[in-house]
This record gives sequence, structure tokens and C-alpha cells, in this order.
Amino acid sequence: MNNTQSAAHGLAVHALLDALPDEIAVLGPDGTILAVNRAWRRFAARHGAGGAEAVGAVGSNYLAACHQGSTAGQAHAGISAVLAGASERFQMEYALPTAEGERWFGMSVTPLEAGWRGALVAHTDTTERRRAEAGQRIAAIAFDSPEGMMVTDADGIILQVNASFSRITGYSSAEAVGRTPGMLSSGRHDAAFYQGMWAAIGANGRWQGEVWNRRKNGEVYPELLNIAAVRDGSGAVTHYVASLNDITLSKAASDQIKNLAFYDPLTHLPNRRMLLERLAQALPAAHSSGHHGALMIIDLDDFKTLNETLGHSTGDLLLQKVAARLHACLRQGDTVARLGGDEFVVLVEGLSAQQREAGTQCEALAGKVLAALSRPYGLGPHQCHSTPSIGITLFSGGVEQHADEVLAQADIAMYQAKQAGRNGIRFFDQSMQDSISDRVRLENELRHAIDTQQFELYYQLQVNRLHQPVGAEALIRWRQPDGSTVSPARFIPLAEETGMILQLGQWVLESACAQLRAWRSEPAMAALTLAVNVSARQFHQSDFCEQVCSAVQRYGIDPGLLKLELTEGVLLDNTDDTIASMQALRRLGVRFSLDDFGTGYSSLQYLKRLPLDQLKIDQSFVRDLVNDGNDQAIVLTIIAMARSLNLDVIAEGVETDGQCALLGQLGCQSYQGYLFSKPVPAAALARLVQQGIPGAI
Ligand code: C2E
Ligand code: MG
Ligand code: MG
Repeated sequence: MNNTQSAAHGLAVHALLDALPDEIAVLGPDGTILAVNRAWRRFAARHGAGGAEAVGAVGSNYLAACHQGSTAGQAHAGISAVLAGASERFQMEYALPTAEGERWFGMSVTPLEAGWRGALVAHTDTTERRRAEAGQRIAAIAFDSPEGMMVTDADGIILQVNASFSRITGYSSAEAVGRTPGMLSSGRHDAAFYQGMWAAIGANGRWQGEVWNRRKNGEVYPELLNIAAVRDGSGAVTHYVASLNDITLSKAASDQIKNLAFYDPLTHLPNRRMLLERLAQALPAAHSSGHHGALMIIDLDDFKTLNETLGHSTGDLLLQKVAARLHACLRQGDTVARLGGDEFVVLVEGLSAQQREAGTQCEALAGKVLAALSRPYGLGPHQCHSTPSIGITLFSGGVEQHADEVLAQADIAMYQAKQAGRNGIRFFDQSMQDSISDRVRLENELRHAIDTQQFELYYQLQVNRLHQPVGAEALIRWRQPDGSTVSPARFIPLAEETGMILQLGQWVLESACAQLRAWRSEPAMAALTLAVNVSARQFHQSDFCEQVCSAVQRYGIDPGLLKLELTEGVLLDNTDDTIASMQALRRLGVRFSLDDFGTGYSSLQYLKRLPLDQLKIDQSFVRDLVNDGNDQAIVLTIIAMARSLNLDVIAEGVETDGQCALLGQLGCQSYQGYLFSKPVPAAALARLVQQGIPGAI
């Protein structure tokens, strides 16, 4: 090769080397860099920062640069071996910290062609390749997860499945690859389901949901399916990756939880919670559609007796049969639920928009239910009869009706049906509801009245045969802030029911004792007895005797002037305890009068055992006494009975001279009523007593 040729050759080699993407250097036998290509120069300029700038420059010694660090030492040994002709090739990979973070390089050192001593060093950036390999390894491990995995191509042909896929579906990889996921289809989902799924994948690139699939052995199972579309750089779908989880167990568990929460385990009917949920949906639906709905509460008559006499398992059997018969009576969309015990509920929707017509439709259905449930039941060896009572309320969802309210209305109607003699149907009516609302309001007001002391005691005079004052009855008055008064006939029973009577009664007792104390210092009043009404709940308190005793002592009054008025109702329960309490109070000196006598059921035998002082003839016998022979006979009997028991008799509600005269003839000894005085405040009573009663002898 002549010089020109060799120069041309040198240029060609340079051009060739410069065109290569790898960084290449030619080393002389001692490691001096004889030539480098463009990639090498660019690399050295970019990464040869600081004092390392000389590294890689032509004329520098490459071996000398490879002295430090473990990989550098390894490179030095490897390159030296190639230069010395001891090795055919040296390769290594090493990491280099760069401005863009750590990068990896592969170095390959090969001897120059024969005749030339030296070596060719080639560097390649292997960072991307290594990352791709790591990614593949991670993907391989991920693919080997406990979830079933399946990769399909864009046409849905299965390319790859993992071991979990085979475990879940029963199909081996060989059986699955080449087919489509359609082989797993259970047939439980319709075309619309799959259309929705593919639409979601198209729009969002993924879909997740529960699907029913079929295993190779034919078993249908639930799985949680996740599908993701894989797209290439241009956005075209290249693959689909699906992961599937067998949720047979967790679905069974959650179904069971749902069952427990929303269904009655005995009859498998929806329970109260589920019913309230459906009702809550039915109300607005009725409102928007304009159609009426109805709620029916069905309670079995005398179920308790059957349960107790034939045993609970027979009772359960009856409930199951009732559930089945109710089901048979209803249309597809109706709901029948069991509230608990022997109470069932039927929710019917889509009745007529006309209230009257809806009522008729509903009544017809209730009649059908009544007939179905009244047929005899074969319960094991027993043949039983059972009848239901049915309460119905219609709803139209207007005026913010609440599910609880509607249920309460049906309940009220059902109780009405029961009270009307069972085996019947009753519709809820608004007036019934109003009286209940009134009651709630009254209860709140009463509570407030107790807190703010809105009560007063009035006194109604009691006179003897000569119409001379002998005592008074204390009658409570509730004066509301606006000045109006509420009758005790209205609020006393409510106070009884709610227990507020205990506080009220205590207050009355204290006030009455305080009044007796005040009368002690007024000669005209000092001998008057004071009757105090005591209600059942108050009397049956365990410390009632102590309360009375303590009040008597505190006010320093003569206990003989205090008369407790009990009603027959009080005396009927807890007979022995009642008698013991009365006797204890009697020993204290307190007296007893039996109020409203004649309206209860007291037998003579029973009355004999009680330490009573007085019978009070109820005003209902006095009212028509003059004209009603029957009432005359009753009053006569009461008086005869009192005499035989050695008791006083007083008549209440005496309004006319005629009544008073007749009572006197029949043997009555004292009177109380408007004829002598209405109940009045203490001061007015005192004036009355001091002025004298008109007609008093
Ligand atoms: P009661 O104990 O039988 O009281 C008699 C009721 O008849 C009183 O009604 C009285 O105002 C009324 N009355 C009296 N004379 C006549 C009359 O000539 N004609 C008519 N038509 N009525 C007459 P009041 O005050 O409304 O009390 C009603 C009931 O409330 C009482 O019946 C009693 O059961 C209860 N009550 C009143 N105050 C108390 C109390 O302090 N404690 C308890 N536990 N109950 C009370
Ligand atoms: Mg009374
Ligand atoms: Mg009375």
C-alpha cells in the first residue's frame, strides 16, 4: 500500500468508525490510545468531567486510566491480557455515574488484525437493554402471581396464560392458547353485559367487574375480572391483559352476610331492614308515578297460645307455611316481609291513582290474604286453625311521607283490627293518627309543665246530711302559661302511662299536707278532712308509705284528716302487697276512700279484707238517679253493702236538690258536687266555709 493509498485507507477506516454508534478506540501495544471515533469523543466530552478529561484522549494511556476501583482493576487486567496476546477477547459490563444518573456500559476488547499489535476497545451503552431485561423478569414474576392472568392479542386470541389461570379455570396453557376467552363463558350474562364491558374498555382502556364463568369441569363460579388494553405508540390496541380472581368463597361469605342482614332466617323473607329500604324507595316512586301503594301488616291471632301449647317448632312451622301462603297470594313485584314474631308485612305498589279505587283493590287483596291464611294448617301431627288481623294503610308518597310513619300507621290499623274482634281487616284513618300526634304533643307539654310548676290544687267541698262542711277533695289543675286549663281527666292517665304521675303525685301529697297544716290555725277549717287522689302507679311505689309518713310528720298534721282516694283498679293488682301497704298507712292513722265505686269489679269478699273507711258512689250513678230506677237500685245496693262492711258512703257529682234528697232517702251520709261547690282555690273554699253553705242546717 503506498502512502496515498494508506492515507485514503486511513480516512475510510475513520469514516467507518465514526459511523458506528458504539464508542470505539484503537490502543497501541502499551495501551496508548492511537485513534478514537466520533462517538468516543462525544462520550469523553460529555462524561469526562473534571480531572478525568484526559481519560480517553488520543495519546493518553488507557491502561493507566484503568487503575482505580474494582471494575477498573478488572478492566486493566483484561485489556493487558489482550494486548499481551494472552487472551482473544475481553468483555465486561460496568456502571458509571453520569449526570443523567447511573448508566451501564458493556466494554469489548479484541486484538487488532494480524501484523498490528494493539487492541480495539468498543463501549456500548447497555442501560436500556438491562432495563428491558429487568422489566421482563419482573413481568415474568408478576405473571406468575396467584391471580389468573391471560394475555390475548388485539383479536382476543389467547397468547399466554399463567399457572393460576390453569388452576382456576381447569384449562392448561396448551388448551387455552390459540382459543378465545369465550370458552369460559357461563351463559349467565346477556349480550348487553359484554357490550357494556367492551364499551368501557374502549373508552377507559380498562374494565373491572364480577362475572360468572364456567370451569373446564362445567362448574360455574364467580370471578373478579380486570381487563386492560395494551396500546402501541400510535394508540392502537395490540393486546389485552386480563387478571381474574376466583371469588367463590368471598362471594359466598358476602352473600351470607347480606342474607343475615336483610332476610329472616326462618322464613327467608326480607326482614324489617330490607322492608324499610324498599318502602323508602316505594314512597318517592308512588309520588312520581301518581299511583298509590299500600302497606299491610298481618298479625296472627293467638299465635302465642299456639306456640306455648304445641311448642316452638310447631310455631316455626306455622310461620313458614304462612310465609309460603302469603307469597302465593301476591304478584311478582310485591314484597312480603317478616317483621319478627308473628308479624308479616306486605308492600304493594302500582295501585290505582284514585284513592278510593286503590282502597278497593287493596281490600280485595287483603280479603284474599285473609282467606288464604285462615285455611287449616297441617303442622306435623297437628291440624291447626289460625286467623290473621290485617291493618292497611295507603300511601301516595306526597308531603314527605317517611317509611317509619307509614309502618306505624299500618300498625295502628292492625291493632284496631285486633280490637275489633280479630280475623278482620282495618284501614288506617287520619283521625286516629291525629289523636296519637295530640298525645305526643301533650306528653311534651306535660313534661315541661312539671319542670316549670304549672300546677295548682283546687278544693271541692264535701258536706254531711245536714249540708255542713266536713271536708274537701283536692283536685289538681294544670294552668298553662296562656291561662287555659287542661282537665286532669286528660293528663292524669297520660302521666300514669309515662310515669310522670310519680312526681305529680308527690307534689299533690305535699301541697295537701301543707294545706291541712295551714287550716290547723283557722278554727272553721281545722276539723276538715282532705281527700287526696292516689293513682295506681303512685300507690304501688315501694316507698309510698314512707312518702306519706314523712309528709305527715314534716307538716305536723293529724293523719286522721288525710284521706287517700284509691280506685278499684289500684286494689286489683298485687292484692297482698296492697293490703299490707294499706294496713301500714292505716296504723299511721291515715284513712281510705274507694273512689268511683260501682264502676269496677270489686267483690264483697274482697272489700272485706281491705282496711277501708269510705265508699264513694261514682257520679255516673248519681247523674240520672232521679229518673233511672236501675241506678236507684245500684245506689241502694252500694249503701247496703257499705253498711254491712261498716263503711261511710259519700256520693260525688251531686248537682241538684232532687239528687241530694233521693240520696238522703236511700241512706247516703255525705255529698260532694256542684250543688254545694265547684272545685275552687283554697282561699275561695275558706270563704265558702266561713260564710256557710246555702241550705245548710
Ligand atoms: P275524681 O277523683 O272522681 O274527681 C271527681 C271529678 O268530678 C272532678 O273532676 C270534679 O271536678 C268532678 N265533679 C265534682 N262535682 C261534680 C258535679 O257536680 N258534676 C260534675 N259533672 N262533675 C263534678 P276533675 O277535677 O276534672 O278530675 C277528674 C279526675 O282526675 C278525678 O276524678 C281524678 O280521678 C283525677 N284527679 C284529679 N286530681 C288528681 C290528683 O291530684 N291525683 C290523681 N292521681 N288524680 C287526680
Ligand atoms: Mg277522687
Ligand atoms: Mg270519682
